[in-house]
Amino acid sequence: MSEPSPRPVPSYLDPEHPGPWGIYLEQVERVTPYLGKLAKWVETLKRPKRILIVDIPVELDNGTVAHFEGYRVQHNLSRGPGKGGVRYHQDVTLSEVMALSAWMSVKSAAVNLPFGGAKGGIRFDPHNYSQAEIERITRRYTSEIGVIIGPNKDIPAPDVNTNAQTMAWMMDTYAMNEGTSATGVVTGKPVSLGGSLGRVEATGRGVYVVACEAARESQIPIKGARIAIQGFGNVGGTAARLFYEAGALVVAVYDHTGIVYNPKGLNVLALLEHVEQHGGVAGAPLTETLDARSFWSLETDILIPAALEGQINHDNADLIHTRILVEGANGPTTPEADDIISSKGTVIVPDVVANAGGVTVSYFEWVQDFSSFFWTEQEINHRLEAMMRAAYASMSAVAREHKVSLRTAAFIVACTRILEARQVRGLYP
Ligand code: NAD
Repeated sequence: MSEPSPRPVPSYLDPEHPGPWGIYLEQVERVTPYLGKLAKWVETLKRPKRILIVDIPVELDNGTVAHFEGYRVQHNLSRGPGKGGVRYHQDVTLSEVMALSAWMSVKSAAVNLPFGGAKGGIRFDPHNYSQAEIERITRRYTSEIGVIIGPNKDIPAPDVNTNAQTMAWMMDTYAMNEGTSATGVVTGKPVSLGGSLGRVEATGRGVYVVACEAARESQIPIKGARIAIQGFGNVGGTAARLFYEAGALVVAVYDHTGIVYNPKGLNVLALLEHVEQHGGVAGAPLTETLDARSFWSLETDILIPAALEGQINHDNADLIHTRILVEGANGPTTPEADDIISSKGTVIVPDVVANAGGVTVSYFEWVQDFSSFFWTEQEINHRLEAMMRAAYASMSAVAREHKVSLRTAAFIVACTRILEARQVRGLYP
């Protein structure tokens, strides 16, 4: 056994307030008893491999110079290059980026992608800056982290407040600095620049696929299943459409503008059009409205939080009556709420598998960029569905074997894969 860390919270974080990194460390503690002899290597998971903090000086449109703080954390690279998004938000912290990078290691391994985990971020609110300023911030950030990213080293992607355009600027900056086109340095690019078909819908499609697997195990037919969804954007909107097309009854949808309800099932296609025109679900025809407590109290077969983190917590966990909860968002269920809901017999499909469809198609994008040969959308969807089903099956088998929740099982599968790679590689030098 390696020596346990005398101080599991690294010196650069406040040990009293470790933030999201502290939550991640607790999750690792919980799975350690199931890792057998690999537990010898578990300290590896408790320390990010590499942390880069960069200063980003940028001239603003008004001629002044502003400095922004940026991060890129590579949590673990044992199974392949780092993979993970770049977040632009005023609340980005090192602890958050570290935890997100670790959850990317877990997610990539849980779906068996040949990637490690990484994450990046810049602490600023892009809504307060012009497109030209955001482009300059993005390009300088990319240059600063250019020493550790690359198609075989670490591959960023979009996250909160970043998008295909951001990735195009990052790819261009990296390419200019390296003197090579290197499209595979980022994923989530525009299709015109080596992006993949099917990427936009990938996460919602993955949510749908694993929800169907969970429903099959619980003997719930999708046709006629009652479904409620929080978040009707990229993830929730796509999942809702796929359920609707499969004959499920999407009875309630909750977004930032309000909640719409129809006990006989909403017309999801009409609702998507309404959102396109009006920016949200509020006021959609042929719907009733609900308050938040009534939404969470609905009796459903499948509940999908696909908006923000921490939405299911000690305030509403008691209200929830659903047979399957599928985490479309990252971290939508607090650990306390997880215990309350699981104790009622609800199956919780954890985020690290449920929303891994996006990173899976990012993997396809990276593979296509390397070969400069692009697949049809049908091929991509087919491969995505196969990988999501396989990930669900591995997680479910481990849950049955050890009589643990799907979340713990996903961590066992992922940590075992990472530490097997760690062990077989051995320590350098
Ligand atoms: P999005 O911006 O397209 O949609 C977000 C949705 O959440 C919108 O419908 C918005 O109205 C709703 N929303 C925002 N604030 C809300 C509030 N306070 N109450 C209720 N609804 C609210 O975002 P997205 O890409 O669909 O991402 C949703 C979640 O899924 C996030 O947690 C994200 O991290 C996670 N996720 C996304 C992807 C991806 O590929 N897009 C991949 C993995 C995880």
